[in-house]
Amino acid sequence: MYNSKQIKTPSYNRLLRRSFATPATNSNFSVHPEIAARTPPYGKLIKNLTEVRRVLGTQGLTLAEKILYSHLDNVEDALGGRNGKVRGEAYLKLKVDRVAMQDASAQMALLQFMTCGLGKTAVPASIHCDHMIVGENGADVDLPRSIEGNKEVFDFLGSAAKKFGIQFWAPGSGIIHQIVLENYAAPGLMMLGTDSREQSLTLNRWPADTPNGGGLGAIAIGVGGADAVDALVDAPWELRAPKILGVRLEGELSGWATPKDVILNLAGQLTVRNITGLEWKLSVARAWLQFVTWERVYPPSDLTPAPNAQPSEVGATTSLFPFTSKMISYLNSTRRAPIAEAAEGTNKSHNFLRADTNAIYDQVITINLSELEPHINGPFTPDLSTPLSKFKDAVKENEWPEQLSAGLIGSCTNSSYQDMLRAEDLVKQAEAAGLKPKVDFFVTPGSEQIRATLERDETLDVFGRAGGTVLANACGPCIGQWKRNDISKGDTNAILTSYNRNFRARNDGNSQTMNFLASPEIVTAMIYSGDMSFNPITDTLPTPSGQSFKFSAPSGSELPSQGFEPGNLAFVPSNSAPSPSTPVVVSPTSSRLALLEPFEPFGAVDLKGLKVLLKIKGKCTTDHISAAGSWLKYKGHLENISNNTLIGAMNAETGEVNKVHDANGDILSIPDLARRWKAQGVSWLVVAENNYGEGSAREHAALQPRYLGGKVILAKSFARIHEANLKKQGVVPLTFADGADYDSIGSCDSVDTVGLYDMLVSGGDGEVFLDVTRKTDGRRHRIPVKHTFSKDQAGFVLAGSALNLLSKRAAIA
Ligand code: SF4
Repeated sequence: MYNSKQIKTPSYNRLLRRSFATPATNSNFSVHPEIAARTPPYGKLIKNLTEVRRVLGTQGLTLAEKILYSHLDNVEDALGGRNGKVRGEAYLKLKVDRVAMQDASAQMALLQFMTCGLGKTAVPASIHCDHMIVGENGADVDLPRSIEGNKEVFDFLGSAAKKFGIQFWAPGSGIIHQIVLENYAAPGLMMLGTDSREQSLTLNRWPADTPNGGGLGAIAIGVGGADAVDALVDAPWELRAPKILGVRLEGELSGWATPKDVILNLAGQLTVRNITGLEWKLSVARAWLQFVTWERVYPPSDLTPAPNAQPSEVGATTSLFPFTSKMISYLNSTRRAPIAEAAEGTNKSHNFLRADTNAIYDQVITINLSELEPHINGPFTPDLSTPLSKFKDAVKENEWPEQLSAGLIGSCTNSSYQDMLRAEDLVKQAEAAGLKPKVDFFVTPGSEQIRATLERDETLDVFGRAGGTVLANACGPCIGQWKRNDISKGDTNAILTSYNRNFRARNDGNSQTMNFLASPEIVTAMIYSGDMSFNPITDTLPTPSGQSFKFSAPSGSELPSQGFEPGNLAFVPSNSAPSPSTPVVVSPTSSRLALLEPFEPFGAVDLKGLKVLLKIKGKCTTDHISAAGSWLKYKGHLENISNNTLIGAMNAETGEVNKVHDANGDILSIPDLARRWKAQGVSWLVVAENNYGEGSAREHAALQPRYLGGKVILAKSFARIHEANLKKQGVVPLTFADGADYDSIGSCDSVDTVGLYDMLVSGGDGEVFLDVTRKTDGRRHRIPVKHTFSKDQAGFVLAGSALNLLSKRAAIA
C-alpha cells in the first residue's frame, strides 16, 4: 500500500540513485505479471464487430466506429432499425475495458464507488498522483513538499486503491496520460480517463489528454468521475455516436516540423478563428465538434511518427490512429511484445485496426506534412494558430510582449524520448557556440521512465548545463502549480510552453501571462534569443566570440537504442489484487475528504411541499452551480464544497448574485438557505432558463444540489450532459411545456408534483404536472412539464441515485 512515509523517508535523490542500481532487464519489470489484463479482449471485440456488420449491412466503417461499436453492450439495441442513421443520433451504451483516474478527480470517483459496497472494480483501473505537485525549485525539493502538503489525499487514494485492487501510481511516478501510454494503452482498447476540464479550466468540451492513448490506436475518452464510476461498477457508459472527422496526412515531416505542429495547425483550421476572425464560426465549430472523433486517414508511410498531441483541445471527443509498425515498435520497447503480437494478428485477420477502404467521413481535412511549418498558438486559447514565419508580424500587430520571460518543455503529451532528444540537440548546438539561454528554462518529464532514460542518456545533464530546472514527473506548471518568483501577479509577460493548454492564468495564476504553445524544439530554440520575434529557422544569434550562429534543424532518435530505463521501481504497482481488509484512510477531522452516505430513495408517492429556493435569470453553467478555483481543494469533501452551490447564479427577482430571501424575509446566501431548509426537512427546487448546466460535465454540479436537499430542477431547457448527471444523482430535471410558465412561479412558492411517481415507476411513460401555490397570494395553479427519462434513468431516481441502483443490482448478482 502507498504510504506517504515511504516517499519521505528515503529522499527523492536516494530513490533516483536506486534506479541506477537496477538493470532494465529486472524480471519484476520486464515481464509484467498483468500483461494479459492489459491486452484488449480481441476475441470478444471481433465477435461484436461481426454483429455490427450484420446489423449495419455493407456500409464501410471508420476505425473509430469499429472500435467504439465493438464495445457496445448490445449491438442490435444501439444500431438496429436506424437505416444507417447512427452518427450524431444514436446513444451508444458501451462497456469500456479500463479506467484511469488522476488524483484530483479520483477522490470523488472513489468516494462514490465506495458507496456501492463492491469489493473490487469491475474493470482494471489505475490512479495517478500528478496534479497536486508544485513546480518551483526542481523535483528534489518540490516533490517531498507537495507530498507532505497533500498527505491526507494521497493516503486516502493509496489505501482505497489497495482495498479495491486499483493500481496506484504514487506522486513522482509520472503524469496520467504518459503512464497510460507506457503501460495500458493498446490498439483497439477502449478506456475512460477522469481528467476533466474542472481541474484544467479549459474551454474544450472534453479533456485534452486522455485521448493521448489514441496515439497507440486506443479509443480513450476523458470523462467526469461519475462516468468513470459507471465503468467501475460494470454499468454501460453512454455516449452519443460521434461524427467522424478524417485527417489525411500526406508527405513526410522533416526539418523543424514536428507532430506537435500537426495539431497546432489543425486546431487553427478547425476553429477557423485565424482565417475569418468570426467568433460565431468558432462557436459553430465547437458545437459540432462536441460529438466528433477524428482519425488519421491512410498514413503515407509507417515511418511518420505518430503525432503525440490531440485535437480534443478544440472540442473533439477523442482521436486515434490506425495500426502501424510504429505501434509495434513502441509496444515492444515498453515490454509489451505479446500485446503487439495479438494486435498485429487481429488486424491481419480482421482488418480491425484500420478503416475500411469504403469508409465515409463527415469531413476530411488534408494536411501535407512535407509543407507543414512549425506553428505557435495563443495566447489564451489553443486555436489561435500562427505559422512561425508570420509570428514576428503577429507579435507586432497584436502588441504582444517583445520579450519572452520563460520557456517550459515537457508535459503528459510532449515529453517523448524523441521530443527531448531533439531539444537536447538544439541545446548542444547553442552550447558549442558559447550561448546560454536568456530566460528561465524548465523541463517536465512525463514519467519516471522518461526521466530515468533521459538521465541515463545524459540528456538531463545537457539541460542542466544550460541552467534548466528539471521539475517533478508531474503536471506542475501545466495545471497551475507553477510557483513563480520572477513575475508579480498582474505583470504582463509572455511564456512559451510545449504544454497542452494555455487559458488565462492556467500556468502561474497570473491572468496577464500570455502563454503561447509550440513544439519543444521551438520553445528550446527561442529561449536562446529571448526575443518573441526570433525565428530559429531563418534568424541568427550573435555568439560571445562575435560570430553569427544559426541553428540547424534538430534531430533525435525516436526510441532509445539501449531501451527505456524504468527508473525507480518503487513506483511500479506490484499487482491489482484487492485487499479487502485494508482500511481506507480518511481522517474524521479532514477538511478535504469525507466519506459519502448513499442518498435516500425517492419514496412511494409524489413530492409534496417542495419550495422554490431560487429563480435564476439567464445563463447558469456548471461553473455557476459549482464554482472552480480555490474550491477545487474540497472536491473530496461534499459538505465543504457544497458551500459554493449556485453562488454564481443570478436571482431573477432581485438581480443579485448569491442572495436569496427566505419566506420570513431573511436574506441569506444560496447555500445557507438550502442548508436551513434541509435542516427543517424542507426539500426544494430551482427554476431556471435555457441550457441549464452547460459547460463541463462537472459531477459536483449535480451532487451538491442533491446533497443540500434539491429534488427538482425546473428549466426552460437543459444541457444534455448535465441533465443526465442530475438523473444519475437522483435529482429530477423537468422542462416547462410552455416556456411562458417561467413567469408564473417564484421564490418560496410551494410545489407538489403530480404524476411524477407514476411516470418513474412506469419507466418514463406518463405526463407530469406541477401544482404551484404562490407565496405572494396563496393562489394555486397547474404547470404542465416535460421530461426525458429513460427506463434506466427512472430507476436511478427511484433508487435515490444511479449508484444506489447499481450497487443493489451488484449485490443481487
Ligand atoms: Fe492535463 Fe497538463 Fe497534466 Fe497533461 S500535463 S494531464 S494537460 S494538466
